[in-house]
Amino acid sequence: MSFNVVQEDIKSLVDGLNYAQKVERSLRLIKEAYEEYGDKLVVANSLGKDSCVVWHLAQTVNPDISGFIVTTRFKPRQTVEFMEKVAADFPQLRVYRNNDPIPDKFYETDPDACCDTLKVEPTRRAIEEMDVRCWVTGLRCTEGRTRTDFQEIEERDKGLVKLNPVLIWHEREIWQYLALNQVPVNPLYSEGYRSLGCEPCTRISSGADERSGRWLGTSKCGGECGIHTRPLKVAL
Ligand code: SF4
Repeated sequence: MSFNVVQEDIKSLVDGLNYAQKVERSLRLIKEAYEEYGDKLVVANSLGKDSCVVWHLAQTVNPDISGFIVTTRFKPRQTVEFMEKVAADFPQLRVYRNNDPIPDKFYETDPDACCDTLKVEPTRRAIEEMDVRCWVTGLRCTEGRTRTDFQEIEERDKGLVKLNPVLIWHEREIWQYLALNQVPVNPLYSEGYRSLGCEPCTRISSGADERSGRWLGTSKCGGECGIHTRPLKVAL
């Protein structure tokens, strides 16, 4: 980690900063990282609402910033159509997927291995092929039980900095930014989804935990696909 932002108490920032201050802070984080890493800074765009904000912020900092999308064979039709539109609008976004054969209903029998194959592997490949030194994500610490212990700037894999520029944003502030900047989002949000993933593993949820509709009915419920928790710099 080499660019110069002091790590602060994340929990105090979540309610200590207002919307405008958070926008300014996020832009500063991306700008400083881009000054440090140049074209080796790459945005991981999941096409979810948080990624839509991060992508818009990054494009505001510099439209040359590139990114990648990881998709799977199990994405809902609406997500695929949204992805095709976003990818056409932003040629600086590359799309990665893993089309290897997998066991039938792998998402039921072993969802961790399914995510590892379909999501983590293409993320590793993107980071390797795009020669990434700093990847930028839409992770937020108020999203759910598995997201409370992250920092805005991390180095979980040696030689790969991870920047989480909207870590301290509330869900409401994400929607505030999207509305104020008229950023298009996946139409599935209008059906009531709050967190989007693959079709077999995503349900509409309500209540405090935004990710509680993910992997419902499994031990992975409300959890992670692995791109934020598994090593990403490994020999391919
Ligand atoms: S979210 Fe479900 S279908 Fe998608 S990769 Fe993970 S386990 Fe497989």
